[in-house]
Amino acid sequence: GEPIDSATLKDGDRIKLGDTVLKFFAAGSLESDYHQSLVARAAFDDLTQLYNRRQFILHLSKAIEVAQGRAEPLILVLADLDHFKPINDTHGHLAGDEVLKTVSMLLRDSLPARAEVGRLGGEEFAVLLRDHSVPQALEYAELLRARIARTITHTSHGLALEVTCSFGIARWLDSYRTHSDLLRAADLALYEAKARGRNRVALSPGS
Ligand code: GH3
Ligand code: MG
Ligand code: MG
Repeated sequence: GEPIDSATLKDGDRIKLGDTVLKFFAAGSLESDYHQSLVARAAFDDLTQLYNRRQFILHLSKAIEVAQGRAEPLILVLADLDHFKPINDTHGHLAGDEVLKTVSMLLRDSLPARAEVGRLGGEEFAVLLRDHSVPQALEYAELLRARIARTITHTSHGLALEVTCSFGIARWLDSYRTHSDLLRAADLALYEAKARGRNRVALSPGS
């Protein structure tokens, strides 16, 4: 409420700039920690710590805007675990969760530079690739496929679980209007990979 030229800020101070109010938190203050945990909750999936669907779509939409402006390639890779339901049905939901965590860690560890990964829901993941040609994206997905297929999850109950994964790839095309068009194309390719026998990579026809 006071006009100032300069002032030393203390925890909780409010700074008004026109219609915008900024609130200052000292590093490590209780309220700052609280806000950070709220932000993390809104952006990340609890189980896997990957971006949640909402956050991933937000990043995807931003990336599309930027890539369109600069005519940069943008590729979406969808990944869906194969026959995951039987893992839950046979070994229980917690064992299934451990498999999801293993795959998520693998996806994070295999993430190329400037790529982003999220959990779109259930046992479905998405990777957004920048600076990748279609052949490079296919090679990357093939590498993931092989890594997932040879990874064993050793659960806390002493089980050794294996899973495979199917992939659908689509490149952003000028004829697309929104992220939904890209998602739909990658999803159709994923469906194709499932139909052709799973544990494989399929490319959207237009890409
Ligand atoms: P497909 O090869 O056709 O993809 O078969 P699927 O069994 O993987 O696919 P389906 O969609 O039939 O089943 C997905 C299963 O994923 C069903 C659901 O119980 C399970 N699931 C979804 N979210 C979670 C989760 O957070 N934890 C666990 N453990 N299971 C989950
Ligand atoms: Mg599945
Ligand atoms: Mg699924």
